[in-house]
Amino acid sequence: MKELVIDLEAEKTEILKRYRALLRASKSTLQKGDKRMIRKAFDMALESHKDMRRKSGEPYIYHPIAVAQIAAEEIGLGTTSIVCALLHDVVEDTDVTLDDIEQEFGKKVAKIIDGLTKISGVFDTNSSLQAENFRKMLLTLADDVRVILIKLADRLHNMRTMEFMPRDKQLKISSETIYLYAPLAHRLGLYAIKSEMEDLSMKYMERETYQFIKNKLNEKKTEREKFIRDFIEPVKKVLSAQGLEADLFGRPKSIHSIWNKMKKKSVPFEEVYDLFAIRVILDSTPENEKADCWKAYSIVTDLYRPNPDRLRDWISSPKANGYESLHTTVMGPRGQWVEVQIRTKRMNEIAEKGFAAHWKYKESSTDSGLDQWVQKVRDMLKNPDSNALEFLDDFKMNLFSDEIFIFTPKGALIQLPLNATALDFAFEIHTDVGASCIGAKVNHKLVPLSYKLQNGDQVEVITSSKQVPKEDWLSFVVTAKAKAKIKSALKEEKRKIAEDGKEILERKLKSLKITYNSENIHKISYFFKLPSTQDLFFNVAKGLIDMKDLKEYQLSEKVVENKPQDKIDNEQLQGLLRNIKAKDSDILLIGEDMQKIDYKLAACCNPIPGDDVFGFITVSDGIKIHRTNCPNATKLMANYGYRVVKARWTNQQELAFLTGLRITGIDDVGLINRLTTVISHDFKVNMRSITVDSDNGIFEGSIMVYVNDTEHLDNLIKRLKTVNGITSVARFDAIDKAS
Ligand code: MN
Repeated sequence: MKELVIDLEAEKTEILKRYRALLRASKSTLQKGDKRMIRKAFDMALESHKDMRRKSGEPYIYHPIAVAQIAAEEIGLGTTSIVCALLHDVVEDTDVTLDDIEQEFGKKVAKIIDGLTKISGVFDTNSSLQAENFRKMLLTLADDVRVILIKLADRLHNMRTMEFMPRDKQLKISSETIYLYAPLAHRLGLYAIKSEMEDLSMKYMERETYQFIKNKLNEKKTEREKFIRDFIEPVKKVLSAQGLEADLFGRPKSIHSIWNKMKKKSVPFEEVYDLFAIRVILDSTPENEKADCWKAYSIVTDLYRPNPDRLRDWISSPKANGYESLHTTVMGPRGQWVEVQIRTKRMNEIAEKGFAAHWKYKESSTDSGLDQWVQKVRDMLKNPDSNALEFLDDFKMNLFSDEIFIFTPKGALIQLPLNATALDFAFEIHTDVGASCIGAKVNHKLVPLSYKLQNGDQVEVITSSKQVPKEDWLSFVVTAKAKAKIKSALKEEKRKIAEDGKEILERKLKSLKITYNSENIHKISYFFKLPSTQDLFFNVAKGLIDMKDLKEYQLSEKVVENKPQDKIDNEQLQGLLRNIKAKDSDILLIGEDMQKIDYKLAACCNPIPGDDVFGFITVSDGIKIHRTNCPNATKLMANYGYRVVKARWTNQQELAFLTGLRITGIDDVGLINRLTTVISHDFKVNMRSITVDSDNGIFEGSIMVYVNDTEHLDNLIKRLKTVNGITSVARFDAIDKAS
């Protein structure tokens, strides 16, 4: 057993030394009476923790002092928080009660300490208990965000002083930190604390890798520092020549972020090029901030060539957590890309201290993204329905909910909203890249345009000069930018096609001897139920309305001209009927006297024996048989009632009628085989065509089959539904107009 030799006098001196350092750190926020308050808290903490020691053997009081110091110095919190930080462990670990605290320090402090006490031991072995505790922890957020901020300071200090903990505790605390505290710090804008937490967790969880990268960074330290000096020097000169006061320095990226990059891009350490970022921190006045930042940007990019794709302007639109900065990547003097971050002192303070600094400067912007986020969390906490585990998931999601970060092949960061797809990314890079995008590689794997990106994905866009924006793209893109660009491209495309269509229609009408004028164009549009003349031109250009259709329009016009619609001209109808040649082997009876006359089955609804049907007299194409539930039936009967004739099936069998089935299911090997076996082998039904669409394991197929009648069809449908993997089978009502 190790014997501990303690020099109590030396310890006392050390404690006071640390306490005075704390006072110095909080100096900027101290107001009258604050110092006395802090002293009182310190005395109470010192007294109640007096016989306690940390695992390292040090006096326990070092810990609350350190937490208070982090709160003051690194988060920028004020007196109330410093008092609470000093007292954060007393209620839990000593005889001091909440009432005592309230009596000495007031309601506010007591409430924060209460919050801090409730959330100690948040993580326990039982995962649902852990979730419930975590929920409790976040409930404190509803009262006072300072509780979370002090908790983060507490956690950071524990992480910094973990060497003496047993290994299993180290692992447990590290994983909690990486799972929850680091994302929470990030969301609250505490970048420095977040990075340190990540690095410290990695130090315990991935010891070897951590040490490896750390050594590598040390090896190159001198070289790197020289590079940074050479890079900064000319920038500094021009900045001051132009009257801009600025601090410039190179900051190494965190070990954890370098490691992440190595993993994501699967590259060795040597190929991670951005091991550091250059920061330009400007001393500016509030009204000149933006202009000064851009001035500095202009100076930097005069000296070094920028990569235009990597300009990030978080000054015009700050991140949800309040972060403001101008980022650019430039080609350094030795042919190496260097990231430069330009911001003012105020912006830098927000970048490093996040929430607290944000409060300090808030006056002007009351509706920042961060406030909205806190409000959202509060609302979520009020929802009593969600059980603890679900809640935790929701919350974790919420930590990053409004943004994901995607890497370009060169490692530049692109910020996108949650659920953004590969196509959104392409449009984010450039409109032309989006418009000609045919696919993408995400983490070197080929994915479709609609692929939903995950935070940290690296995306390479594949383009083709033959590609044009498609209508269905609108169904999956989420960014406003992509949507707007696709819409305008489609509109432009349609406009061009319609222009061609106009000429074609003019020629066609001429040959039909129909005058091309606005009245007729409108009439024709109306006849084809099109919302605008542009749609008419478009349909003509696409061949969806051809000469035959136009003739039909012409004839309908003549019929309408000759015969008013409300009067059925029996004579004409009979004349038409007489002209239709009788068929020898007939199965359909048509007309009042149910004659057997020639007919055609309408392609829009493919009637089969057993269906309720009616006949429709087309002047050029004889009688067409439609199902009464045909999508066109209402239109036909409403507009041309006088051309409708009764029709019904006889009992004729053994004839085959074409009908379509739409089948959906879970795609797997052999599904099509099983389907076709049932259709052609079991049912001896002939198929005319099969089209299959498979997307992400979902199978969608259209099969055209020949059946005898509805009963035959119903049986086939019933049987197909029993095929393994099939989720639905339905006859489809109409063939798409386009097909
Ligand atoms: Mn503590």
